[in-house]
Amino acid sequence: MIEHSSGSAASRPVTVVGGSVTGLYAGMLLARGGRAVTLLEGASHWAPEPRTLIVTRRMRDLLGKSGDRSVVNIINRFELMTNGRVATVPLSEPDLVVERSVLHEGLVEQALAAGVKLRMGCRVRTLRGTHDGVALEVGRSGKPEELNATTVIGADGTFSRVAHAAGWPAPQTVPLVQAIVRLPQDLPPDTTRVWFQPDDTPYFYWLIPESPTQGALGLIGEEGSDTRQYLEQFLERHHLEPLEFQAARIPRYTKWLQPLRRLGGADIYLVGDAAAHVKVTTVGGIVTGFRGALGVAETILQGRSSGVLRGLRWELDWHRFVRRTLGHFSQSDYEVLLDVLNPEVLDILGTHTRDEAGRILVRLCLAQPRLISLALRSLI
Ligand SMILES: Cc1cc2nc3c(=O)[nH]c(=O)nc-3n(C[C@H](O)[C@H](O)[C@H](O)COP(=O)(O)OP(=O)(O)OC[C@H]3O[C@@H](n4cnc5c(N)ncnc54)[C@H](O)[C@@H]3O)c2cc1C
Repeated sequence: MIEHSSGSAASRPVTVVGGSVTGLYAGMLLARGGRAVTLLEGASHWAPEPRTLIVTRRMRDLLGKSGDRSVVNIINRFELMTNGRVATVPLSEPDLVVERSVLHEGLVEQALAAGVKLRMGCRVRTLRGTHDGVALEVGRSGKPEELNATTVIGADGTFSRVAHAAGWPAPQTVPLVQAIVRLPQDLPPDTTRVWFQPDDTPYFYWLIPESPTQGALGLIGEEGSDTRQYLEQFLERHHLEPLEFQAARIPRYTKWLQPLRRLGGADIYLVGDAAAHVKVTTVGGIVTGFRGALGVAETILQGRSSGVLRGLRWELDWHRFVRRTLGHFSQSDYEVLLDVLNPEVLDILGTHTRDEAGRILVRLCLAQPRLISLALRSLI
């Protein structure tokens, strides 16, 4: 349950720290809701590195059609592979492959149009509680500056300064490494391929086509240097040449963090990677990041905890359960898993998205009870 500060909170201005996708989205929603919003971004100009992302159609439910110009490809099916076995999941509605820099550009335009005041080159160093709010110590083009605020949203990513200053625990992180490669001849550009190889990673390898000729091949690992090595070996085995590499550490969702804390006289919220709002099964953080930003914006505007945040917590907890189960899977468990994917299970997987895990797990188990014994065996 979120408890707010005094009743005058209803008209307070909001300071958002971090101007990537979740910060811009939260700022835009609040400005549309009538709040004065200032967004502080550490970078001195907008130039997010290009990054290929795959998202479910749920992104459209949140952004409307405005995210469409960032869509560079659509995915109509997933091919799951393990040790020579293959299962194909046709999607009833396609997944979207988006280019993050274009998505970001569109959100900047929308935030500005909604009235968000953007301040570039403002890197927040720390926050200090004061009796009537919080003082943000900011490095502006190298020079120190102090800004005051009463409501702050930390959207400053995995290693959030805002979270640290307000006393949230540092998140666990996992390394993600991907390479841009030419698509192999046998992969249609509307198909994402996934390989389960538990000897290399408890997660999986993926190849996501971003155009008819190129795709992003990557994996999530446990140790940074091993992960890069596994990727290079995988590329070699599959005769794929890397054109460029992308890498980062992603927050690992281990438990729900209450998204509001008090520091001095201010309310401090977290969204996106700063709040570890990332599905721990796939480390997809775009749709869940937007959901968290919507939930926090509604909470601030309505003055009470938003149901969107409760739904997001439920969803992230289910992903944690699935991740824990898969984390114990051996090679032979994955082989059994692919063998038991009957038409009914494939239909459920293709009709619902991975942003609805909480709603489909029971249906999957009813459609194929052997999934329960497989999960129990691995957990025990
Ligand atoms: C290689 C890679 C591939 C990915 N693929 C997918 C995918 O396919 N699908 C998917 O859903 N997700 C994917 N993700 C995850 C997704 O990109 C993130 O979850 C999402 O971008 C998080 O956005 P954010 O706005 O919360 O944080 P970030 O994008 O990390 O942005 C943080 C912002 O805060 C600014 N900032 C940081 N510190 C400060 C400070 N002290 N003061 C002021 N500003 C500051 C930064 O400059 C930045 O602009 C991928 C991530 C990576 C790295």
